This record gives sequence, C-alpha cells and structure tokens, in this order.
Amino acid sequence: MGADSNASLSPGDTIGVLGSGQLGRMLAAAAASLGLKTHIYCPEGGPALDVAAASTRAAYDDDDALAAFAKSVKRVTYEFENVPAHTAAYLAARLPVHPNPGALATAQDRLTEKTFINGLGVATAPFARIDNAGDLDAALARLGRPAILKTRRMGYDGKGQVMIRGGDDAGAALAEMRGQPAILEGFVNFRREVSVVAARGVDGAFAAFDINENEHANHILSVTRAPADVSAATADAAVATARKIADALGYVGVIAVEMFVVVDNGVEKLVVNEIAPRVHNSGHWTIDGAETSQFEQHIRAIAGWPLGSPKILGRVEMRNLIGADVLRWRELLAEPGTRVHLYGKREAREGRKMGHVTRVE
Ligand code: AMP
Repeated sequence: MGADSNASLSPGDTIGVLGSGQLGRMLAAAAASLGLKTHIYCPEGGPALDVAAASTRAAYDDDDALAAFAKSVKRVTYEFENVPAHTAAYLAARLPVHPNPGALATAQDRLTEKTFINGLGVATAPFARIDNAGDLDAALARLGRPAILKTRRMGYDGKGQVMIRGGDDAGAALAEMRGQPAILEGFVNFRREVSVVAARGVDGAFAAFDINENEHANHILSVTRAPADVSAATADAAVATARKIADALGYVGVIAVEMFVVVDNGVEKLVVNEIAPRVHNSGHWTIDGAETSQFEQHIRAIAGWPLGSPKILGRVEMRNLIGADVLRWRELLAEPGTRVHLYGKREAREGRKMGHVTRVE
C-alpha cells in the first residue's frame, strides 16, 4: 500500500464495491450524489450494475481480476457479509478495505461473534459450540428448550436455523445442519427486536441513527419503525453498545447491531443478537427520514470525509416489498406521503426483496 493510500478521497475518485445487490445499488447512488464513482465487483449481475460507473464480472477467488480491480479503485467496501476471507485479505494487502477484514471475519462466524461480544461485557443469548451429537446433548441439557440451532456461517433471513422444542428430536435438527459447524443458542424471550445503525469514521467519530424496531415475517424483515418504542435509557444503552462494538473492531463505515429487548421485572434489558458489517435493511428509512442516509454516511465514512447528521425527520415506518408485494407499485406510487423505492429486479420471486416504501410523519 502507498504511504498516502489511506488519505481521504477526492470528488471524482472511484470506490470499489464487492457485491451487486440492492445495498450496492443504494451505495452507488449515494456515492454518485457526492461526486464519487463506484466500480462493482460481482460474479453475477444484479441491481447495483444499473447505477455504477463500472463493473467487473468475475469470481471472488479470481486473483487476476481482483488485482485489476484493486488498481482501478481507491477504496474497497462490500455490501454483503459473506465476502470470502481470501478476497478481503487479497484486496486489503493492496489498498484500504473498509470495514476491515478482521471485522468481517468476526461477523461471519456466529461463535466468534458472540465470543467477541461477551468479551466486551455485552450480553448475548447463552450459546454453545456444536460440532457433533454429544455437544448438542450437553448443550441442550445446559441451555434448556426451546433452543435454536444455527449454522455458524452463511446464515441469513432464518436460513440455516432450526428451533428445538420440548419433545423434538435433536438428531433430526443436527441433520439439518448438513455437517456444518453449528452453534446452539438459548431461546431469548424478547419483547421487541431492535437494531442500531451507526457509522464510525476513520478518525473514530461516531454517529448513530435513531434506534429501529423491527418486525419479521417468515424470518425476513417486514417493517421497521423508528424511533423504537423503548425508554430513553434503553435507546442510549443500545447506542453505547454499538459504539463499544465498533470501537473494539476498529470499524470504519456503517455497522448494524441487532438486539433483543427483554423485559425483566419491568426493566428493559438488551441482548445482542448479531452484527451486520454493512449498511442494513433496517436503516433504509434514513434515505427519506434522516438528514443523511445510511448509504451516504457509509460513503462519507470510508472516504475519510466528515460524517453527516443522523437526525431523524419525524416518526418513520419502512415496509419491505417482498415477492409479489411489489406488484402494487403503481398503487403505492399514487399514495400521498409514500416514498417508493424499487430495486429493478425483474422476477418477483417469493421471499425476494424487491423494493421498500417509507412513510415519514
Ligand atoms: P438471526 O439469523 O440470528 O438474525 O435470527 C433470525 C431471527 O430469529 C431473529 O430476528 C429472531 O426473531 C429469531 N431468533 C434468533 N435467535 C434467537 C434467540 N436466541 N432467541 C429467540 N429468537 C431468536
């Protein structure tokens, strides 16, 4: 890396983005509005390619393509957390990669992630490493039922997860892991699910958006409302927790920390579920409902530019358009006060995120 490779970017510079989904699309649009270009690197097409200045279609382990990509951009970031470790390391040896590959590695493995979070003195669900049937029996005896068995890696939107209730066959649950390393988590009896979306700059500056309350349907985020219906003390504690995590990871960019709110004897307590080392679906409302969007904030952070104001502009609701929901786009466009965002995906497959709508009151 050159001596000034970490210097802040100038308008006209190009940011490399790994991944071509809707998050990359919204990052590219935000970068363009700040006078920055994006170059998308992806193995296959996707909605980000419609709005980026350049793209490379190649596999994540294609070192020649990665080397050429590294030469054509000044920074690298990513829009999904399953970037292979080799890809991140290869690029980080050549130019700044934000968030850093260490943060990525921590968030990629549920066991590493929860161990790291507990090490900061922050609560998670109780958990145990599961490599075989003996581990699972011992963990079920310790954590009780119901419990949730999850693959350590590559899980998202409820994939790679199975609930083990009283009377369920643990062996059948383990078979669903298909031999992949797993983790058993004690079931958290939560009142709400919330998330903090925040940015940390190269200089350690930190700015959090108002905290989000998230509702899921079929394991996929359905609705986010901000600010979440929690006490001011809980909101402050959630932001402080996100900052502690971002600081400890030496993080640069937007991070999302998903948490459960548990009510114990009338007192709200926070339990961290997981870290997303990227812009996050629960932060999409910031495009219409905050002074700076999460996408612009991420670009500012990784460019080494000052962070923008995260101030919320009212009470906000964001609804995802999943699968066939998007077929109502004409109707939604006609609704006063509804901001419609479509990702330009052709096929409205079941469970596929096709767009979102935001309402600010
Ligand atoms: P995850 O993939 O870890 O985000 O889990 C997906 C969803 O499953 C979460 O948003 C929760 O609704 C639920 N969930 C995950 N882990 C737990 C847990 N330990 N206790 C209760 N619910 C959970």
